[in-house]
Amino acid sequence: MDNQDSNNQASKPKVIAQIDVNIQWPKLQSRDWIEESVNDHLNCVLCGTEMTFKHHTNFADHSVVEDANCGFCKIRNRQTAHVLQ
Ligand SMILES: [Zn+2]
Repeated sequence: MDNQDSNNQASKPKVIAQIDVNIQWPKLQSRDWIEESVNDHLNCVLCGTEMTFKHHTNFADHSVVEDANCGFCKIRNRQTAHVLQ
């Protein structure tokens, strides 16, 4: 057996399998960004359940604290404070 020959054989690339792929991206409807933002604001990011909002208004310092809770996940998703105008 010739050593050099077998080395050449090993270094030659060989096609052992060929996979033909035809990628087709799904056609997604472009959503209105306002609708998407409102949807993200009103629904839980974890499970999509409609969130419950509570507003605590403080007329002494003219502020409103908004709590957003998901009844399904049992967590507070968001707490934001706003200044009354
Ligand atoms: Zn949730």
